[in-house]
Amino acid sequence: MKSHAQAVVIGGGVVGCSVLFHLTKLGWKDCVLLERSELTSGSTWHAAGGMHTVNGDPNVAQLQQYTIKLYEEIQEISGQEIGLHLTGGVMLAGTQDRFDWLQSLHAKGRYLGMETEVISAEEAAKIMPLMDPKHFVGAVYDPIEGHLDPSGTTWAYAKAAQKQGGEIYQQTRVEALHQNEDGTWHVHTDQGDIHAEHVVNAGGLWAREVGKMVGLELPVLAMEHMYLLTEDMEEVKQFNESSGKEVPHAMDFDGELYLRQEQKGMLMGTYEKACVPWQPDATPWDFSMELLPPDLDRITPSLEEGFQHFPAFETAGIKKIINGPFTFAPDGNPLVGPVRDLPGYWCACAVMAGFSQGGGVGLALANWMIEGDPGFDVWGMDVSRYGEWITKSYTNVKVRENYSRRFSIRFPNEELPAGRPLRTTPVYDLMLSKGAQMGEAFGLEQPLWFAPQGVEEVFSWKRSSDFQPVSEEVKTVRERVGLMETSGFAKYVVQGEDAELWLDQMLACKIPKQGRMRLAPMLNETGKLIGDFTLTRLEEEDFLMIGSGVAEEYHLRWFTEYLDPELDVHVVPQSSTMLGLAIAGPKSRELMENVSSYDCSNEHFRFMEMKLMPVGLCECLVGRVSYTGDLGFEIWMEAENQRTVFQTLMEAGEPLGIGLFGLRALNSLRLEKNYGSWAREYRPIYGPLEAGLDRFVAYDKDADFIGKEAAIEEKDSGGKLRLKTFVVDAKDADVIGDEPIWHNGEVKGWVTSGGYAHASGVSVAMGYIPKEIAEEETGWEIEILGELRPHRKNQSSPPTWRNGIFGSACRS
Ligand SMILES: Cc1cc2nc3c(=O)[nH]c(=O)nc-3n(C[C@H](O)[C@H](O)[C@H](O)COP(=O)(O)OP(=O)(O)OC[C@H]3O[C@@H](n4cnc5c(N)ncnc54)[C@H](O)[C@@H]3O)c2cc1C
Repeated sequence: MKSHAQAVVIGGGVVGCSVLFHLTKLGWKDCVLLERSELTSGSTWHAAGGMHTVNGDPNVAQLQQYTIKLYEEIQEISGQEIGLHLTGGVMLAGTQDRFDWLQSLHAKGRYLGMETEVISAEEAAKIMPLMDPKHFVGAVYDPIEGHLDPSGTTWAYAKAAQKQGGEIYQQTRVEALHQNEDGTWHVHTDQGDIHAEHVVNAGGLWAREVGKMVGLELPVLAMEHMYLLTEDMEEVKQFNESSGKEVPHAMDFDGELYLRQEQKGMLMGTYEKACVPWQPDATPWDFSMELLPPDLDRITPSLEEGFQHFPAFETAGIKKIINGPFTFAPDGNPLVGPVRDLPGYWCACAVMAGFSQGGGVGLALANWMIEGDPGFDVWGMDVSRYGEWITKSYTNVKVRENYSRRFSIRFPNEELPAGRPLRTTPVYDLMLSKGAQMGEAFGLEQPLWFAPQGVEEVFSWKRSSDFQPVSEEVKTVRERVGLMETSGFAKYVVQGEDAELWLDQMLACKIPKQGRMRLAPMLNETGKLIGDFTLTRLEEEDFLMIGSGVAEEYHLRWFTEYLDPELDVHVVPQSSTMLGLAIAGPKSRELMENVSSYDCSNEHFRFMEMKLMPVGLCECLVGRVSYTGDLGFEIWMEAENQRTVFQTLMEAGEPLGIGLFGLRALNSLRLEKNYGSWAREYRPIYGPLEAGLDRFVAYDKDADFIGKEAAIEEKDSGGKLRLKTFVVDAKDADVIGDEPIWHNGEVKGWVTSGGYAHASGVSVAMGYIPKEIAEEETGWEIEILGELRPHRKNQSSPPTWRNGIFGSACRS
């Protein structure tokens, strides 16, 4: 075995082999893959080999599309047969809700260039002869679906990688990883050591153990999974002979089943509700090419339904039941990318659909390792979407919930219950006592809306039971004073003699003077948006940065990567130690003056100013800013003071008509002010000009901030896209996100977010369109649940409410 490599990939399943293929294809020839046993000997060898492009996250769907299109290429390069069967497939809806969901997937697919088609149940039955259409209300046909030989495919990646210079050592187990002072790695194996600049954890069933080798608790767990194979079936043979085709794939979401042809019989698999984790504590190292004992009882309820939906199965003999383990992250998407404080350690784990996603994961990771950027929007599968709050038990309950809901609908207003509450703030129970309906983000519970007595959330694609209460919350803010919790934002203190120097390089804005706040876009090297913060200079060498809560780990990873040991600067996350409340509305100034005894007039407390001041008994940092677009104050305090501050504000606010509002009202309020938000309008695929944040970029400042050159280039060329706000002539449903935007009968863009702007009484959608047509006011339509809803002519933006500061972007 060689003693040095640029990159060592740990694991020879489909994912590791794809990573090796892409690294060597993109130019890193000196790469090695180490496999403990034989290639495919984890979860790969017993996979059903099915593949499809469907994913709730359109960016992941795009990478799935890439994966499937790659197969012919790897077959050709390697000369290895992969048994590719592109049969097409039908996704079947047993209820109207499911059909709505499928239509929304179809609509999302439009702007990604997917070729799916909405069809009736009867049309589906002509394509998929084994189904009984009476159990279904409709379907979506996808021509890019099929199956392949899992082992042949893995070997095709492997052989193609070898032809490109990669080396593979089987029967070589990585036993330990040791990082040297210079950041390189010593990979200790049972066959000797390799010194490498980079290591990739593609350990599949052992990814958790390969994480532990560097002290990581990766949120990944294996689950048992079963599918059955039938004897030859007469119906299958007849269809093959009469049509000259294979029986296509079918996904029966309400039956929780998938099926496809296997030789002259069928394969049927199910994601059973009574699911079982496999080896929840540690994966044994001697497990290899083994199957688990089948448990027919567990899948019987699903099979019974399947036999009704596909009656030919009733008389088919069952040849074999396969039960094998494979891994999941809590949300079912892969865990990909680098890890904070572990330079050169990369993850390519928890890939639950290796044959749909393996190619895309390999490409994104190889780009990331070689170019420093994945080259795609991989937010949905970035390992940094989980933080230090992850525990093994949280992963366990969440993965089980995800598995059992694999084929369930998740409504846009539905919060999933498992693993909650995990992180709460001191006002949690007070909020609950006022009717708070909680949502969870980054493990933290935050009020979404406040339900009056007797009102319950009804899950729906359309406006629901929260519509009226949220409207009342909005009214409270716009007419009197509202209070919300803001602890979910990420908070960082940046300190040190060189703090200003460092921030000047990291952020694209000018650095504020003492006591002042500034909106601060952060760019990557390619000039794309990777953050939008509010930066405050508290003291000469002391700064407070507030940013998106769900991006905390993502941002900390970036900050850590760019911390220069030569500089005196420290970034200290304040996660749960500094908490927040905000008040907004015309009476918020009076309230602030009452609780602080400070003069909060415009002259003494200017917009975008922050002061340390009392709120009742407690000293707080108070900023004059509001994401609602109203007069308002954000109040940051020590966690131990939050309850007292809350009660002080509520008591003092009572005569002013104070009311609580949640994140849904905030969304409504920010929409009519054109404020974008992180992970929706602001993502690493948009430039600041495209996103309308260019006015916060100091193109002319002296510091060579990261992405400056690319940002200037974008400014000069005008970029490609524009963020535009539409007023939609909606009926009883508003946009959710990812809907197509049509212009004169063609799909030209996509929705990033939207909803109902209660104060203005209009439905709003924000989205990206080509810059060339951005100024056009007519011809626009937004697709909502399969219907094209027009944009109101001559009204490109929602009306501003009273004297709102419409148009000035703020942070999420
Ligand atoms: C019953 C069943 C049906 C499935 N059907 C489908 C399907 O139809 N379509 C689909 O897309 N997916 C399917 N899957 C999922 C699919 O199998 C996985 O997505 C895929 O195998 C993941 O591949 P991987 O490379 O990440 O992991 P693995 O296949 O587990 O590979 C990891 C490899 O790493 C090696 N390794 C681990 N640790 C070390 C170490 N320390 N040193 C050296 N080597 C190490 C292991 O030996 C192993 O070979 C199915 C899974 C099951 C169980």
